[in-house]
Amino acid sequence: MSHDAPSGDFEGFGGRHVPESLEEPLAQLASSFDEIHDTDEFRERFRGYLRDFAGRPTPVFHAERLSEEYGAQIYLKREDLLHGGAHKINNCLGQAILAEEAGKTRLIAETGAGQHGVATAMVGALVGLQTEIYMGKKDAERQTMNVFRMRLMGAEVNEVTRGRSGLADAVDVALEDFAANVEDTHYMVGSVVGPDPFPRMVREFQSVIGREARDQIRDETGRLPDAAVACVGGGSNAIGLFHAFRDDDVDFYGAEGGGKGEGSGQHAAPLAEGEEGVMHGMKTRTLDDDTEVHSVSAGLDYPAVGPEHAMFRAVGRCDYRAVEDDDALDAFRELAELEGIIPALESSHAVALAKEIAAEMDEDDVILVNLSGRGDKDMEQAAEMFELG
Ligand SMILES: *Cc1c(COP(=O)(O)O)cnc(C)c1O
Repeated sequence: MSHDAPSGDFEGFGGRHVPESLEEPLAQLASSFDEIHDTDEFRERFRGYLRDFAGRPTPVFHAERLSEEYGAQIYLKREDLLHGGAHKINNCLGQAILAEEAGKTRLIAETGAGQHGVATAMVGALVGLQTEIYMGKKDAERQTMNVFRMRLMGAEVNEVTRGRSGLADAVDVALEDFAANVEDTHYMVGSVVGPDPFPRMVREFQSVIGREARDQIRDETGRLPDAAVACVGGGSNAIGLFHAFRDDDVDFYGAEGGGKGEGSGQHAAPLAEGEEGVMHGMKTRTLDDDTEVHSVSAGLDYPAVGPEHAMFRAVGRCDYRAVEDDDALDAFRELAELEGIIPALESSHAVALAKEIAAEMDEDDVILVNLSGRGDKDMEQAAEMFELG
């Protein structure tokens, strides 16, 4: 079931906006993806790892106390229960198998807060591929535990000191590495972003979330949900949830990092408040020049977004709203206190948006929320903000 042209064109968004040196490597990757991902061998291996290594299927949980508080029936897709603590492992497993079957011996990735780097290191060890992670020196200094995790699992972590020593600089260095070493190297992109084939490839590997959830919620409630809600950084957990419901009468809501609010000039909401542009090899929506990228959650702190979301917005398929830091923090606390689940700060944005739309809905309407990850990684930050010490 393919809704877009094979070139990765999402009604004018997407494409492959890259220097010439990357065109051939990307074309090669696209053709090995097209050849391999639909074979029985690939599917069987992927399904096996998702089940036995990652811990799928994840449950759908009816959050009854939260439902009472918010005024609609809230169901949580528990991606927080996966190995590694978030949905990122789904994509990394898919790409690692693809890389190995395409004859690559080496994985590279860039990482900001370190979550994608850790997921890449896990699958590198699992499949037995040499793994190198590029990380801005500033990020590496802030996220020492994730650096230790990656090294413990055998990955080499290269601290990038170019430019501002941040995520964007790590992306540049990783792309150069990929262009120079495409014969033996696979570049593991962590979300539905970048040049084709990444947006459609990562969607394919994450869409297991929605396929499971669609069956589970029907078994439990006897029908489809009225709304599906997910947070949007690059957009992979959201696309992963939405894809199975795309042709259904289910409303989609995307929660972006609203940061310090409208007019503050500090947020991460290119869909709710940005403009069209080309960034990281794709035509999409980006922040405007006057905005500084900021979100309380590191995983939403990204100045662009996957091109399929830009398309969904343009055609009105999904309602994207900026959720401010403070509202996400309230939801973080509410879910912890009412259900005994500590969500990732990213996922807390989706919970906060569910609260907002529940207020516009009937009490027995069903809202399916993707709980993309758990909050263990955020505890130091939370302890400081909520003065838990
Ligand atoms: C990385 C991350 C995100 C953001 O990435 P998407 O591609 O937008 O899904 C969201 N939630 C968690 C828990 C993450 O680790």
